[in-house]
Amino acid sequence: MRNGVLLITYPDSLGSDLSSLEKVLSKHFPKAITAVHVLPFYPSSADRGFAPKTYEMVDPVFGNWEDLQKLGKHYDLVFDYMINHISRESEIFQTYLQEGPDSPLQSLFLDFDAFWGGSITEEQLDRIYKRKDKAPYEEIRFADGQVRKLWCTFGEQQIDLDTRSRRGLEFLEQNLQSLVRNGAKLIRLDAFAYATKRIDTDCFFVEPEIWELLGHCRALVEPYGADVLPEIHEHYSLQLKLARNGYPVYDFALPFLMLNALYFQQTTYLKGWLEICPRNQFTTLDTHDGIGVVDVFGLLPPEEIEKTKEHLYAYGANVKRIYNTEKYNNLDIYQINCTYYSALGNNDRSYLLARAVQFFCPGIPQVYYVGMLAGMNDLKLLEETKEGRNINRHSYSVGEIEEELARPVVQALRHLMELRSTHPAFDGTFVLEQEEDDHLLTISWEYETGKLFLHADFQSSTFTIKEGEKVLMRL
Ligand code: BGC
Repeated sequence: MRNGVLLITYPDSLGSDLSSLEKVLSKHFPKAITAVHVLPFYPSSADRGFAPKTYEMVDPVFGNWEDLQKLGKHYDLVFDYMINHISRESEIFQTYLQEGPDSPLQSLFLDFDAFWGGSITEEQLDRIYKRKDKAPYEEIRFADGQVRKLWCTFGEQQIDLDTRSRRGLEFLEQNLQSLVRNGAKLIRLDAFAYATKRIDTDCFFVEPEIWELLGHCRALVEPYGADVLPEIHEHYSLQLKLARNGYPVYDFALPFLMLNALYFQQTTYLKGWLEICPRNQFTTLDTHDGIGVVDVFGLLPPEEIEKTKEHLYAYGANVKRIYNTEKYNNLDIYQINCTYYSALGNNDRSYLLARAVQFFCPGIPQVYYVGMLAGMNDLKLLEETKEGRNINRHSYSVGEIEEELARPVVQALRHLMELRSTHPAFDGTFVLEQEEDDHLLTISWEYETGKLFLHADFQSSTFTIKEGEKVLMRL
């Protein structure tokens, strides 16, 4: 992966399909990004692509493999692999339903009762790491009328796969190889920690199985010059462990730490993280999911977490607690649904400061498409769909994109992205400079011919980027 800005977008969010996405990017952002993560573009039956029916094709609504190849000529491509589950409507699952619970396909899925040795005890059930407020299974009726409980961690359309069986491994191999053959440089292993399960554990990030599975995935894609990126929202120590074992990780702690720093003009906790965070990481402020809270446990004291949440709900633009509840189909109690720009009260200065700091952090910065256009909370879409995460999933028409691009905040962000994607300093060495004042943060990158500085002031929401004495950008 080139060391520049990674855009993450749905295939139909910047214009209506992959072909318009390519046109929008080449017209407006040719120097601003070096990689594109196209969120699931496969035929799918739910969760905006995260219940894939197959990996063999691009949903014709979005385009075809050639459209992706065209995009891949200019940008490194990142694709998703839903390692934990497959669509209930997929051909393979439908065949299983037809053939019955004793079909050879049985080893690809997880019979819940059989897994727990007949039936699960209360204690075992409580211990499972869950994403929803009920036991993680669905009662499935087979064609012959028999009913079985099958493991189902997420929505009812997302049936869990058994990655331990021979058939499960073959399935993994076939799909990962199809994705890299079709141009992926990096595969995001969606909801990775749920894919390892063992009786009498919490069935989340189960060791040593997790390492075997990850190593296996990497070995499958490596011959194609690609790598894997496990997506895990949990305690930061897991990210550190993955990084120590040589895997790239996401920095999901940064968004909340940055809010804490900006809201209360204090950089102690943010700096604490920058000192220890993995260097081989993908930094985020926003994604297609919510702003992670569990990711900062242990990095921010509980009272700071509470204060930050309170402040977000009080001063964030149009964000309410109810959007993060069952009423709005919220999947994850540890995430807050809000655009990053709105979390900062739709304030241009704070937002640009946050992005400048993100771009100077170690790792490859990821920018979500709504964030690239400094998008506000989309309450209309949220209310129409009653889906909490849709607050941050506005689809932009080509005309709207042109309008958004006229906003100074979007132009300044594009300028920052160009700097991050083209300046050689970021291949150098990261230095967190000493600062006396808690509201000041200075980061520099030392490289062959000089030093690039970011001086950030969280009190006045101002920053300066300097190359030696030469000012490259000031806000
Ligand atoms: C994705 C979510 C998705 C879930 C299930 C994740 O962590 O980011 O958008 O709903 O996995 O696939």
